[in-house]
Amino acid sequence: MDERKKNNKILVTRSSMPPIDEYIEEIKGLWDNHWLTNMGEKHKELEGKLKEYLEVQELSLFSNGHMALELTIQAMNLSGEVITTPFTFASTTHAIVRNGLTPVFCDINPIDYTIDVNKIEELITDKTSAIIPVHVYGNICEVEEIEKIAQKYNLKVIYDSAHAFGEAYKGKGIGQYGDASIFSFHATKVFNTIEGGAVAYTDKELGLNLYRLKNFGIRGPEIVDWVGTNAKMNEFQAAMGICNLRYIDQEIKKRKRVVRKYLELLNGIPGIVFCKKQINVKENYSYFPVRFDEEIFGVGRDIVLEELKNEGIFARKYFYPLTSQFECYKGRYLGNTPIAEHVSKQILTLPLYADLKMEDVEKICMIIKRLKYKKKGN
Ligand SMILES: *Cc1c(COP(=O)(O)O)cnc(C)c1O
Repeated sequence: MDERKKNNKILVTRSSMPPIDEYIEEIKGLWDNHWLTNMGEKHKELEGKLKEYLEVQELSLFSNGHMALELTIQAMNLSGEVITTPFTFASTTHAIVRNGLTPVFCDINPIDYTIDVNKIEELITDKTSAIIPVHVYGNICEVEEIEKIAQKYNLKVIYDSAHAFGEAYKGKGIGQYGDASIFSFHATKVFNTIEGGAVAYTDKELGLNLYRLKNFGIRGPEIVDWVGTNAKMNEFQAAMGICNLRYIDQEIKKRKRVVRKYLELLNGIPGIVFCKKQINVKENYSYFPVRFDEEIFGVGRDIVLEELKNEGIFARKYFYPLTSQFECYKGRYLGNTPIAEHVSKQILTLPLYADLKMEDVEKICMIIKRLKYKKKGN
């Protein structure tokens, strides 16, 4: 790669940041009260604002999305087996395994890559205690079907909503579905608190348990009755969230423009497969996943990734490999998930962030088209 290209690198994502003056203004007070963490004022303020923005009844903030998920599983006292999908980020599966539970992998559907609701029931055994589906790329799972299954078999449902910040289904905040929904506010997500996360829930008892678990299991000044950990969001994180939340609608609108441009430029190219727009969903445009069907497109996903890289553009094989294929699991939890395997070999998420320039989107699409049409016979 030549110098010019190196300096004009386009990464797959780019963290949103508020104007620096605004952040400084937001944290100034911390130098007066010296209260830097342990559920301070900023923490309280962000919790309230997010509850409103996400349209959820209860919300608990965490140091990151992973701890939010791991501790929600612990707070629910789940046991045995948990049905989930391997087409996700490491966090989802790790949270299950780190709780001493067995992930049972269900396949995904080939349309939006969320859990295939027609394949859940056959995986339920008398050991199953919960379902942990993922709103992958912000694509909403079939929440109504999942609810029906959960009721029929008396299972808990925890949604990994790390990709679904601010989304709504049938006019209801996405965090209202299931027993709990986990959000991630990691730097690379649509909304960030640098690192951070939250759990949306309704059961007050669960809320109390979450509060204790993220604060060492402390119940009162002299009572520690649970082996908790430390997963508190600090004041600087919360201040970042307060600032970023002011711009979130604008951010999502800008992302939408980028996605529209991609769709316009890549539409109709044989061998390129997009996710269909979901009905009744308020979207957040968090990712732009594209599948390359080698037989029709002419070259496979890996070649596209390489070619983009040669031009200083960094797309991502998100999600490849499947979590079930991770070395740390040593093949212990392999499931029958042919669709997930197939999709993970074809998928590429293209660069997407609010300030991605239209000319950069054009360049990315041009490189992709060039690959397609330089192939003979296509
Ligand atoms: C980002 C992410 C998480 C974990 O969130 P962190 O805030 O990075 O800990 C969990 N699940 C999925 C699907 C994610 O993309």
